Amino acid sequence: MMSNPEKVTVEEPICIGSGSCARLAPGWFRMDEARGVAVVTDDVDDRDPARLELAERTCPVGAIIIEST
Ligand code: SF4
Repeated sequence: MMSNPEKVTVEEPICIGSGSCARLAPGWFRMDEARGVAVVTDDVDDRDPARLELAERTCPVGAIIIEST
């Protein structure tokens, strides 16, 4: 798998904890159940760019930020 060319963050104050991103792109996001927000995983082996893009596009509140580095 290619390296990660983007910086991906979840804007935690905006995230409503829908879990959509973790379902669609589990290689990128997981839920922090205690805090009710999504966080970016440390998993670098399963990072499908198409899934990242899908999660970003379908987040109901636009909390996923992708920055090119
Ligand atoms: S899809 Fe958006 S609102 Fe839902 S858990 Fe992920 S970052 Fe939060």
